[in-house]
Amino acid sequence: APVLTSNFLRAIVESDLAAGTHTRTGLPPVITRFPPEPNGYLHIGHAKSICVNFGLARDFGGRCNLRFDDTNPAKEEQEYVDTIIDSVKWLGFNWESDGPDGTENHLHYASDYFEQLYAMAEYLITAGFAYVDSQSADEMAANRGNFNQPGKNSPFRNRPADESLALFRAMRAGQFPDGAHILRAKVSEDAMAAPNMNLRDPAIYRIRHAHHHRTGDAWCIYPMYDYTHPISDALENITHSVCTLEFQDHRPFYDWLLETLSAGGFFRLPVPRQYEFARLNLTYVVTSKRKLRQLVDEGIVDGWDDPRMPTLVGLRRRGFTPDSVQLFCERIGVTKSDGWIDMSTFEGCLREDLDPKAPRASAVLRPLKLVIDNFADGESVACESPVHPHFPERGLRSFPLTKHLWIEEDDFMEVPSKGYFRLYPPSGDKPGSRVRLRYGFVVECTGFDKDENGKVVAVHCNYFEDSRSGTDGSATYKVKGNIHWVSAATALEAEVRLYDRLFTIPQPDAGGKDFKLALNPNAKEVVRAYLEPGMAAALPEQRFQFERHGYFIADHVDSTPGKPVFNRIVTLKDSWAA
Ligand code: ATP
Ligand code: MG
Ligand code: MG
Repeated sequence: APVLTSNFLRAIVESDLAAGTHTRTGLPPVITRFPPEPNGYLHIGHAKSICVNFGLARDFGGRCNLRFDDTNPAKEEQEYVDTIIDSVKWLGFNWESDGPDGTENHLHYASDYFEQLYAMAEYLITAGFAYVDSQSADEMAANRGNFNQPGKNSPFRNRPADESLALFRAMRAGQFPDGAHILRAKVSEDAMAAPNMNLRDPAIYRIRHAHHHRTGDAWCIYPMYDYTHPISDALENITHSVCTLEFQDHRPFYDWLLETLSAGGFFRLPVPRQYEFARLNLTYVVTSKRKLRQLVDEGIVDGWDDPRMPTLVGLRRRGFTPDSVQLFCERIGVTKSDGWIDMSTFEGCLREDLDPKAPRASAVLRPLKLVIDNFADGESVACESPVHPHFPERGLRSFPLTKHLWIEEDDFMEVPSKGYFRLYPPSGDKPGSRVRLRYGFVVECTGFDKDENGKVVAVHCNYFEDSRSGTDGSATYKVKGNIHWVSAATALEAEVRLYDRLFTIPQPDAGGKDFKLALNPNAKEVVRAYLEPGMAAALPEQRFQFERHGYFIADHVDSTPGKPVFNRIVTLKDSWAA
């Protein structure tokens, strides 16, 4: 588990706990929520918010609700609800277990509050805090003013409460088309002149003849986000309503609404308080839902769960672990000022998490044939190596060494460059190089074969029988090169996808740039690789370190029993470091 460090949100919760600010019988003293709108897939930015909210509940013995803010039927679908639930669970948070102290997390839907939201709207109308506006959308926009200019009161603003109430009921009854009327809040007499635009008679209900994924056709008016959100928080007895900085300007309305409705006796006190933190901006990705959708719709990636996508379904398929995401969110902390976090920080957390966990395996990704000429045909020597070099208790894996092997293309050079210690052939009176075949023998290169195009197709060598790894004789061979290999006789041929960052520059969409110009053409390469035979048993989502290459995961969509397909999660070292 990551080491927890203090941050301003934890400090607020700690001082509220000490002061007993939210002490209420039968309720945990800390209740947070993560409130996604089910209109798309979650991405790494949402993971940050999930970790913050569920993390506060976990760390302080409280509760966190997953709440769907599902008040916009036009954009929302059950498909999104399902994937969001899957992703939150995958990240490691749950709400189905009943905790002994009543502090278990819950799952809620704002649409479950439609009836209460409606009743509160009627109350606001009756109490003179809301009115039905019958201006056209254009008139309303024109009368709203802007940052430099106060708005103008709607001619319907002083409509008698009973007239607004009758109209509001008729709206609910389906007597008007979309846009004919709208219900607006009246925060104060001169609210249309408020410097904060969010206070200028914000719309709280609108007519939408649309089918809702949960309430079906029961409603044709839907509450707006700024109205629904504070009320949902209060109904769930949220203590700390944590959101991103762009909601700072919404806080005055949040506070006004809850205070006003509290006076009407709708909530248990104290009402929730809103706190804002800086959203996560991660380099080398885009996280705007619109841009992610564009990548999917235009076929630039292979769907929402493409392993190059920063969506949680994409990260999962790529091989990121839930622990690495949690570690990352903890390590970058929570602040109140916007900034960029480098992708290498995320990848560092990933390597840190994978290194002790991932079993090792041999994989040849760009195969070149190596023939040990003094090895007998059909002979096979069983070689062994630890499943994990630092944890001998995890046992040994075994694979045969035979006359014909696969090695990496770049472990041979016809004309070696300076400092190249792997395989190269004899030249003049200089013998060929000697390298160790990991966990096997030392070999000396004797030559190579080319095809008619001049491409090297096989390398030849002889082995030294007394050089076997782990034997006394091996110590007398001093070689600088140590290469991996797979026996051609027993290798598992497999599709391996070499993924890399989706963009070539750190901020592909900064300053209104066309992010598609910065796509990395090499973000996906598919190779036919040869793996050590034990890899045939790899289960979907099992992760390995392919020695010298990086971390790989058996793809859970395309693998079939005995025939895994692997995705490269991340290389062993950061090749993007400046
Ligand atoms: P939309 O554009 O549809 O509003 P959204 O990204 O805000 O998209 P929501 O479903 O409203 O999506 O987000 C749920 C929660 O996740 C919100 O509380 C939001 O503040 C938070 N969130 C979204 N993006 C980030 C981010 N990059 N960093 C931290 N939190 C985020
Ligand atoms: Mg949103
Ligand atoms: Mg948003």
